[in-house]
Amino acid sequence: MADLNPTSKAFFLGPKSENEPWVRDQFQAILDQWFAWRKSLFPKDPPAITQPDKLNPAFLNSQKVLAQALTELNGLLSEETPTYSPRYLGHMVSESLLPALLGHFCALLHNPNNTSREVSRVGSVLETEAIAMLAEMIGFSAGKAWGHFTSGGTVANFEAIWRARFRMDHWLSLALFLAEKKRRRLELFEDAHMGWSQFHQLMSEHHVQESQLRPYSLAAGNPYRVAQKLSAQMGRAFEGPVFLVPGNRHFSWMKGANLFGFGQESFWTIELDSHGKMDVESLRDTIRAAKEQMRPILMVASIAGTTEAGGIDPLGDVQDYLDELARNKSWDIWHHVDAAYGGFLCAVLETQPQVLARKNVESLLAVRRAHSITIDPHKLGYVPYPCGAFLVGDKSAYAVSSFAAPYLNRQDLPAGKWVSTIEGSRSATGATATWLTGKTMGFASESFGQLVASTCRSCQGFREFLTTHLPWVVPLNPTDSNVFCFSVADKGDPLSVSNKKTSSLFFTLAEGPQFSVSTTTLNASAYSKQILAHVASFHGKKDSETLILIRCVFMNPFWANEDLNHALRQEFLAVLKTWHDREITT
Ligand SMILES: *Cc1c(COP(=O)(O)O)cnc(C)c1O
Repeated sequence: MADLNPTSKAFFLGPKSENEPWVRDQFQAILDQWFAWRKSLFPKDPPAITQPDKLNPAFLNSQKVLAQALTELNGLLSEETPTYSPRYLGHMVSESLLPALLGHFCALLHNPNNTSREVSRVGSVLETEAIAMLAEMIGFSAGKAWGHFTSGGTVANFEAIWRARFRMDHWLSLALFLAEKKRRRLELFEDAHMGWSQFHQLMSEHHVQESQLRPYSLAAGNPYRVAQKLSAQMGRAFEGPVFLVPGNRHFSWMKGANLFGFGQESFWTIELDSHGKMDVESLRDTIRAAKEQMRPILMVASIAGTTEAGGIDPLGDVQDYLDELARNKSWDIWHHVDAAYGGFLCAVLETQPQVLARKNVESLLAVRRAHSITIDPHKLGYVPYPCGAFLVGDKSAYAVSSFAAPYLNRQDLPAGKWVSTIEGSRSATGATATWLTGKTMGFASESFGQLVASTCRSCQGFREFLTTHLPWVVPLNPTDSNVFCFSVADKGDPLSVSNKKTSSLFFTLAEGPQFSVSTTTLNASAYSKQILAHVASFHGKKDSETLILIRCVFMNPFWANEDLNHALRQEFLAVLKTWHDREITT
């Protein structure tokens, strides 16, 4: 078994604070610098807090109160979920990388607000650099990619919806304007996907100013009136655009459709195959249906690293099909890859692609061909919360309605991010944490790639170990990355019985102090084929609409340590055996 690389060993505190002295020195250095910074600026100003102030009883009492409350807070936090521990396999979080923690802490003390250069002279520059580092790892072309940090993947997905809507709204409003004013025939589906080059060509051909389009815009005008005008031109009711999202999506997509006012009906689910991945055949059928029903496609979303099982959709096949439509029919359809979790798997592509199945390597190599992506450094990037990111491969896809805030408007500075981000005030901590990690470890590097690859190996090793020793542990197929899901079933068990056993084991694990795992439920409404395949693997009968699974996320780097790995998996095995013996006797 390959041990963790020395860089990773140096760049985590360690489950027993093994790197404490060095980390202490670094935090001290940050504080020293922070104090010195204040002392060095404006040295002639008189001090604001004097020696007599510091002897004032009320002053001293305040310090005492704060120190006590701080002790209390620290005490309370000692009860917090120990997500740093290798025994924690619950959710998509693990111990933070030290460069990320130090980078976050450093910026926290300076408190820049990346909403605008005025309040973030340095933070906003570092944000641009950190985004470029992520873009490089993904494989976007340098200089063309663009993006910003968000509070997480949820908001990053919203950023994509906002931009896809902006784009389609421009194209549709021009088509409607030309139909009403210039007697150009409206071809709703074609026009809604016309592409920027046709848009600009029509604009100049007909001498249209963008401001003339406002009354024809579903976003900038009155959407009900515009829908009526569209219906009149179409000769049938305009029913709005649709989102094509696979059944393995994260629930943030539903929130997004809801927030942007598209309605749940606009959410068209693409079927999943027996591996729980987007079925490209179903995507083709759904696009055909959208065309027939004259429902323009706001975007196709696919997932790299599903929240449930770390699965990777066939992104290359999706993009190939969309490219084919662009070539043959001139339909420009937005493709967003929700790589909130799996985006960092791109780090292994150059150095250790062999830890991933070939098909998944192909899929991850296609992420760079999408219009936009979501990636969460606070998941597989080992960066502290909150830190998500939204990126586009080409700056033209970043365009969005801009809003003017007069008090933030300074002509002498480059436009602030606030004009194009959903969030207003944004901490620079996520950017600096990512920046320092990129500077030291480098995301597109051997060391970061090895770290992520080692977690995939640990996961695969654990899966093999458990399924070899316990025939009643039934793994969910496939394990694409470092998330291992399994259910409990004896040969021939009906699914309902298996679900009861899995739940019982989960509660035993949840009650015990030894390990934290999570549970997830696959519904037949989305996962029917994968559930059938899973049940067939233990010769069971599908007598339930749900499949209950235990989910283990192997993000913790120290599972790559041989001694630790050996001790923990033996202990995990013992917990499961004890549960099983008890289960059989009761
Ligand atoms: C976690 C996740 C999200 C949401 O990210 P947050 O950072 O929790 O807001 C979106 N999509 C996928 C696939 C995820 O795994």
